[in-house]
Amino acid sequence: MIFDLDQHYKDLQEEARECARAIEHIAVEADNMSELHPGVLKALQASNLSNLMVPAAFGGRSEMIDPLAICVVREVLMATSSHLDSLFALQGIGSYAITVGGSDEQREEWLPKVARAEVLPALALTEVDAGSDIKRITTEGTGAGDAMVLNGNKSFISNAGAAAFYIVLAKEGPKDAGGFSMFLVPADAKGVSISPSPELIAPHVLGEVDLKNVSLTDKNRLGVPGKGMDLTLATLSVFRVSVAGAAVGLAQAALEEAVRHTRTRHQFGRPLARLGPVAQMLADSWIEIEMARLLAYRAAAMAKDDPGSTLQHSSMAKLAASEMASRVVDRSVQSMGRFGLIKDSKIERLYRQARPMRIYEGASEVLRLGIAAELVRIVE
Ligand SMILES: Cc1cc2nc3c(=O)[nH]c(=O)nc-3n(C[C@H](O)[C@H](O)[C@H](O)COP(=O)(O)OP(=O)(O)OC[C@H]3O[C@@H](n4cnc5c(N)ncnc54)[C@H](O)[C@@H]3O)c2cc1C
Repeated sequence: MIFDLDQHYKDLQEEARECARAIEHIAVEADNMSELHPGVLKALQASNLSNLMVPAAFGGRSEMIDPLAICVVREVLMATSSHLDSLFALQGIGSYAITVGGSDEQREEWLPKVARAEVLPALALTEVDAGSDIKRITTEGTGAGDAMVLNGNKSFISNAGAAAFYIVLAKEGPKDAGGFSMFLVPADAKGVSISPSPELIAPHVLGEVDLKNVSLTDKNRLGVPGKGMDLTLATLSVFRVSVAGAAVGLAQAALEEAVRHTRTRHQFGRPLARLGPVAQMLADSWIEIEMARLLAYRAAAMAKDDPGSTLQHSSMAKLAASEMASRVVDRSVQSMGRFGLIKDSKIERLYRQARPMRIYEGASEVLRLGIAAELVRIVE
């Protein structure tokens, strides 16, 4: 049971703070961009934090990827910049299928570069007509051996345009057999083209990935044919909980903005922070952040030991923390009055950035279905 982090994780937090401080002056600019900010990438490369996303055998920091380490780092990075947080997170989300499903050749080719953030990866699951209902994807791999062809269209893919490769989930096998496979598609493969996704309220490096008659060989295959969904679930098991870490970091930053404002601004002869309802908002937010942080750290520690069997705990932590972050940031804006509404102020940025967290890597409503199903299964 975790009540406080070991020194090892506290040292990591300090490393992450150093990286965040290095980009503080460009955070607003980067967080307003839908393309890669070179200064943020440079800082990530200089930090060596990406080596947390790869096992030591392929240039990573520890023998096995540690979800708690990733969680505490995202908590720190997100408090400063969603652009930085997303770049860091994608180094793992976009490469984990290679770590667990790739051949030694694929691992040796890509993972050391991922660990040094020399290349950026991307995970392409979503399509225009397939979001939560991922089994509705129509992207398809046909043919066999060295004569495979991939056709389809992936939508809202993080790092699209900046990535060196795409891990693509596609249908494969006889019609209605329900088989899905994973393919590693280099960004420069013939037939791969990228176009911009719609601009979001909280900009994100995002694009649409068109795959037209992309020729593949067995060397592009990740894992076993027909078992692509297993690699998708494995990725979520390790990385979904890290969204909880980012949400806690965002909420903490929002609360601190509210505290700084409400303790210095006076109305009715007192600091706002001493007016009952405002004090209540601050207190409720602090309590909720503490609860979400404990849940996130615990779920992340569990995921380290046995990611496969702890997906629902990761879902709980992600759901609780992302919903909490929305409540906290909303209260923080409210307690700051009109000063909470100023465009590109830190609080306004956090307000916009909290929103997508309840939708990506498992929308809240869909996560509740899985959590409830698990509850019904385990209660005797
Ligand atoms: C910033 C950002 C980055 C992203 N990056 C990536 C990426 O890198 N790779 C990738 O593959 N995808 C990515 N996505 C896509 C993301 O994974 C999808 O948005 C997500 O899966 C939800 O799908 P959807 O948006 O199509 O919503 P839908 O599935 O259409 O859901 C809409 C609403 O209906 C609810 N709903 C759906 N099904 C049910 C159900 N059975 N029961 C109850 N309620 C339900 C949902 O909870 C939600 O509230 C990204 C999205 C965003 C916003």
